[in-house]
Amino acid sequence: MNLRLDTERVPSHFTPSFDLEFNTKAMLKACLLTEGIRLHASCVDLLPRKPFYSIVTEGIELEVNGDFFVNAPIQIHSPRELIVNNGHVLIRTEKKEYPVRCLPASSVLLETNVPANRPVSDYCSISTDRANIWPVDGCHFAACKKPCRFCDVGFGPDSYQSMDQSLTINALKAVIQDTSLPVRHIQVTGGTPASHHWDHFVEVTRQALKTELPVSVMTSPTTPLSILDELYEAGVDELCVNIEFVSEDLRSKLCPGKASVTWELLEKIASKWPRGKVRSAIIIGPEKKSTVLKGIRRMAEIGILPVLSPFRPVKGTPMSSFPGPKSEDLYSIYIEACNISEKYGVMVGPLCNMCKHNVMAI
Ligand code: SF4
Repeated sequence: MNLRLDTERVPSHFTPSFDLEFNTKAMLKACLLTEGIRLHASCVDLLPRKPFYSIVTEGIELEVNGDFFVNAPIQIHSPRELIVNNGHVLIRTEKKEYPVRCLPASSVLLETNVPANRPVSDYCSISTDRANIWPVDGCHFAACKKPCRFCDVGFGPDSYQSMDQSLTINALKAVIQDTSLPVRHIQVTGGTPASHHWDHFVEVTRQALKTELPVSVMTSPTTPLSILDELYEAGVDELCVNIEFVSEDLRSKLCPGKASVTWELLEKIASKWPRGKVRSAIIIGPEKKSTVLKGIRRMAEIGILPVLSPFRPVKGTPMSSFPGPKSEDLYSIYIEACNISEKYGVMVGPLCNMCKHNVMAI
């Protein structure tokens, strides 16, 4: 029997040295997400060696003042600096210092997944306390010339194939056994499978469920409803179906594979799951604030947790020179999103505090 993830009980690693107001935390997180962090020479050794997966997870993972988690991209011109002072790791700004903890990276990821003679990281990744596995390598949308215009998978190596199930589960088990940063849950994720690979996707999810850790699934809203039903019946804890953009027009242009996604479809998906157990990401940056807020309200109404994902440009994609959001815009959208969500009895997602590291939520 799989456990549900206890989202409130994040392992505490240090006692905050002072109380921060909610708005101060939110503004600091918005700044770290958008402007990143500069590294002082004293903390270079702190950086964990970790494999590269994606632009949205490549930054340094920090727990700030025991209050929130953030994946801060390393940027040499950032006004905020990470520094070690008298053995304490701090974020230093012009006016203040905040104690932080750098999250370790599991060295198991760099080891060999023995049966395959390839690194474990080719089969499994870790985001804070969550192990991620992907039943297919690449994305079917890219294979059929409809990749999302911002995505490093869609514009990555020109290959699409299913992953070997036993090698994936072998890597997952190796990561779970490592105790350097205990894995508390699993996400089945990756690119969108071709129609003949959905059964494989469900089977890999079933295998992940056998670990008895809570399992969430991140998949396209275009996933057949019968597959989503199977995943729910199998015991999947949470579902993430990313709409990416609120406006159907922009979505068609930037995510042609998701052009058929409608609000009616999202409502239908959400109606099958317990309220609040479905979330969906909106990319913050390319759309007007008023449009984004309209989408957040629509999600909250139908019981979907809105997830605010700040746009990060990826080299090699058509949106590589598109700017990310300004910190004050990200902050103000978040504050309004909190008010809207509260009114409808949901929250800004995701539910898991550590999984909030690369999105705008505290
Ligand atoms: S569906 Fe996901 S993996 Fe595929 S191109 Fe779009 S964002 Fe990338």
